[in-house]
Amino acid sequence: MFYMNEFDEIIRGLLLNVSLILLPPFIYESFKLDKMGYVSKKVKPHEVAILTSISVILCMTFAIPLFNGHLYDLRMIPVLVSFFYGGIWSGLATVTVMFLYRWYLFSEGFYTMIVVYSFVVIIAAYISPRYFYLRRRDKFLIAATITIIAMLLMFIATYLMNIKKGDFYIIELIKFFLLFTLIKILALHFTIYILEGFVEKRELRIELQRVDRLNTAGGLAASIAHEIRNPLTVAKGFMQLIQNKGENLSQEKIKEYLEMAITETNRAEKVIADFLSFANPSVENQSLINVSDLISMACNIMYSYATLNNVSINKNLEKGCYLITDENKLTQIFVNIIKNSIEAMPKGGEIDVRVFKDKKNVVIEVEDYGVGMTKEEIAKLGTPFYSLKTSGTGLGLMVSYKYVQILGGKIKVESEKGKGTKFILIFPIYDKAPQEDTNG
Ligand code: ADP
Ligand code: MG
Repeated sequence: MFYMNEFDEIIRGLLLNVSLILLPPFIYESFKLDKMGYVSKKVKPHEVAILTSISVILCMTFAIPLFNGHLYDLRMIPVLVSFFYGGIWSGLATVTVMFLYRWYLFSEGFYTMIVVYSFVVIIAAYISPRYFYLRRRDKFLIAATITIIAMLLMFIATYLMNIKKGDFYIIELIKFFLLFTLIKILALHFTIYILEGFVEKRELRIELQRVDRLNTAGGLAASIAHEIRNPLTVAKGFMQLIQNKGENLSQEKIKEYLEMAITETNRAEKVIADFLSFANPSVENQSLINVSDLISMACNIMYSYATLNNVSINKNLEKGCYLITDENKLTQIFVNIIKNSIEAMPKGGEIDVRVFKDKKNVVIEVEDYGVGMTKEEIAKLGTPFYSLKTSGTGLGLMVSYKYVQILGGKIKVESEKGKGTKFILIFPIYDKAPQEDTNG
C-alpha cells in the first residue's frame, strides 16, 4: 500500500541513492588526481566494474521497499555507467553482481527485474561500443530514453502483479512512477555530467603532457639538426677525398677513410635514434635500467644544445646503479633538468652531472653555476606554467616533478641567486642488479 505522504520518505531515499552512486567515482578520481602526469586515456574496465558494483550494492542496500516488498532504487544508473564508461564486459560484470545480490536479498519483484534488465542489458550492450563517439546531447537523450522505457516496463509489471490483490490505487502508482522516472533521469544526467567532466580533465592532462614533450622536442630540433650536420660533413669530406684522390691512395688509406666516414654516419644515426625515442616514446613500461647509461644518453641528447650555448657537460657516473623504472620518463626528467641548467647559463659554462649510490638509493645530481634562484622561486618550481623565461612554457618541471613522484623518487633543489643550482634526485636502488658490473 502506498500513500502520497510517503513521498517525503521516497525522495529522501532516492537522494541517498544519488550520493551513493557518486561517491565511488569521486573518491577514485581524487586518488587518481595525485598521479597527475600519469593518466592513461581511459579508465580500465575492471576499475569501472568494481566501482559501479560497489554503487549497485550500496543502492540496493539502501533501497526503498514499496508495493508489497518491491525494492525501488537507482541501481540502473551504475549499471548503465558501467556499460557506457567501462565497456560491455564491465557492464556484464556489474549486472552479474546486481543479480547475485538481488538473489541473496530475494524479495518480490525478482522476475520483474529479470524482464526489465534483459531490455536494459541488450540496449546498453548495443550502445556501449558507440557511446564514446556520441555527442554529449545524444548521451543524455539515450540515457533518458532507456530510463523511460525501463520504467514503463517496470510500471506494467508492477501493475499486473498488484492488480489481483486489490489494495491498490492506480493514480498513486502512476504518480509514483512519474516522480521516480523524473528523479532517475535527473540523477542519471547529473552522473553523466560529472563523469564527462572527469573524462574531459583526464584528456586535458594527457594533452598537457604531450604538448610539453613536443615543446621540448621542438626546442631541441634546431640543435639536433646542427648536430647531425657535423658528422655528415666529416663523412662527406672523407668520401670526397677517396673520390678525388682514389687512384693515389693505398688500399689501407681508403679503408681507414671509409671507416671514419662510417663512424661519423653512425654517430649521426645515433643522435637521430636517441632524439626519436625521446620525442615518440614507446609504450610505458618498467624495466631494469642502468642509470649511468641512461644519464649518458640524456647527456648525448643534450650535447648539441649545450655546445650551441657554450656549455660543456662533465659526467661523473658510478657504475652499478640500477633501477626498475620507466626509461622514457626518467630520460625526459633529465632532459628537462639539463635543459634548464643550460638555459640558466646564458654566457655559457659548465654543468656537473653525477650518479652515485649508497645502500638504499641511487642519487643523481645535476649542478649548474648559472643564474640561481631565491627561496621563493624554488618554492614555485613544478607549478604549471611557472616560467621566468621569455619563451618558456613552465611545463618542463611540472611534468618532471610528477614523473619523479610516479617513479617513487624524491627531488631536492639547492640554489643560490647568482651562484647556481643543484638538482638532486633520489630513487630507491634495485639491489639485485647484475654483479659483474658493480666494481667500476
Ligand atoms: P621553462 O624551462 O619552460 O621556463 P620549467 O618548468 O622547465 O619551464 O622551469 C620553470 C622555471 O624554473 C624556469 O623558467 C626558471 O626560472 C626556473 N629554473 C628551472 N631550473 C633552473 C635552474 N637550473 N637555474 C635557475 N632557474 C631554474
Ligand atoms: Mg625547462
